[in-house]
Amino acid sequence: MTEIGVIGMGVMGKSLSRNLASRGFRVALYNRHVDGIEENVAKDFKSAFIELAEAEAFDDLKAFVHSLEQPRKIILMVNAGAAVDAVLGDLTELMSEGDIVIDGGNSHFGDTSKRIDLLKEQGFHFIGTGVSGGEEGALKGPSIMPSGNKVAYSKVQKYLETIAAKDANGEPCCAFVGEGGSGHFVKMIHNGIEYAEMQLLGECYSILKSQGLSNEEIANALEGWMKDLGSYLLGITVDILRKKDGEEYVLDQILDKAANKGTGKWATASIADSGEPATMIPAALFARYISFFKEKREAAAAAYHHNSQGVNISINELKEAYQFSRIINHHQGFSLIARVSDQNDWKVDLSAIARIWTAGCIIKSDFMKELVEGLRRDSSILMNKKWQEIITATYPSAQAVSIACLRNELHIPCLLEAVNFFHGIKTASLSANLIQAQRDYFGAHTYVRKDDPSSKSHHTIWV
Ligand code: NAP
Repeated sequence: MTEIGVIGMGVMGKSLSRNLASRGFRVALYNRHVDGIEENVAKDFKSAFIELAEAEAFDDLKAFVHSLEQPRKIILMVNAGAAVDAVLGDLTELMSEGDIVIDGGNSHFGDTSKRIDLLKEQGFHFIGTGVSGGEEGALKGPSIMPSGNKVAYSKVQKYLETIAAKDANGEPCCAFVGEGGSGHFVKMIHNGIEYAEMQLLGECYSILKSQGLSNEEIANALEGWMKDLGSYLLGITVDILRKKDGEEYVLDQILDKAANKGTGKWATASIADSGEPATMIPAALFARYISFFKEKREAAAAAYHHNSQGVNISINELKEAYQFSRIINHHQGFSLIARVSDQNDWKVDLSAIARIWTAGCIIKSDFMKELVEGLRRDSSILMNKKWQEIITATYPSAQAVSIACLRNELHIPCLLEAVNFFHGIKTASLSANLIQAQRDYFGAHTYVRKDDPSSKSHHTIWV
């Protein structure tokens, strides 16, 4: 008998299966059979890797399910949405009471909540699990964010913890996030933070490029930041900048249209729903959308004069602006998780999330390691004494870089959003009194008066 099954031999399913098998677990592998298109996928994959010698491979779902010990533990690694529902529909026909399905794909957290309830009605357990780290992370140790029923989780905990990345203390980067779809929610915000981190690096690259630095010179500058601001994304950016194909830099040959698979869009929608002003994730998403309009950008570039007197920003100034923006990005991301956790009564432990993001995932960084302790003490990064000092010290550079970029018409949406958010959140009196007056004027929406401590609604006949 096998002890754990994986459905979907795509990029992630293959890597997770090899990871599980290499830790000594008896794994069942399954990929759907489509005549003439998808045949013997699991069997061919098994025969390609020595660590899968003891694994059992199937393209018949019934045989796959019957090979598993009960209660069955089955990891789904298929595309989010209809594919998950299609597989669940077939699977639940074959499973027995108490069996556990773990969805390790990037499913929407709302879908996960519904599936938990649906499977519960049928006598099964469903665990929604964020898995980060890409293909290599899944193979060598991803960051894992499970949620759902805690008792069911305890039955699959050893598998997930064993295959997970390990933090600096050797602890698995896998922690039960909370009830419902909280694991997939946290993974979605992980991806949102990742969007903004990537965009910030893109903005630094474009600023340095506009100053005439070569790819090698930009790589050297960014490499110099690794000591103080080390992160996985910064490290891979240095590698990317240096990569050549013959005499050409690969980066220079890549079309400037950024794709996305949807988690940034979902994160942006959930930001709007939650009421939390996490402005950098939408800025990063819309930057990708703007990039996609290549032909329109080319036409507008020809139609409008580009005014640039030449950017003159020092590497250190840019480094501080980048540091400032990263702190704001993480502040926004963790504040968003805290708010949605409160709204759903998930009781997500922010420090634990930071800890499981210190290894195995795309946003792992030295800063994330510091956040483990920092978020234990303060849920607000902005109001934490240590980062308050760093924000105060780096803000002048963020401001100077923003001004220089505006003068030179550089597209820097995430850096500007970091600065703008900071301005807004530290302004005790905003212009929202005027918005309230306008709303009351045209729609009798009423307003609260500062001189009335009862907070009751007031209305004015404006004309
Ligand atoms: P992938 O390489 O495209 O593989 C998708 C797998 O799902 C394939 O085995 C495919 O089978 C199967 N599948 C699709 N539709 C199906 C259906 N209707 N019935 C049965 N099987 C079906 O995708 P992936 O990159 O492994 O991603 C899997 C999940 O992990 C996604 O939710 C993704 O967002 C998430 N994820 C991916 C990464 C990453 O870096 N790639 C990182 C974290 C999370 P066929 O081959 O037969 O079509």
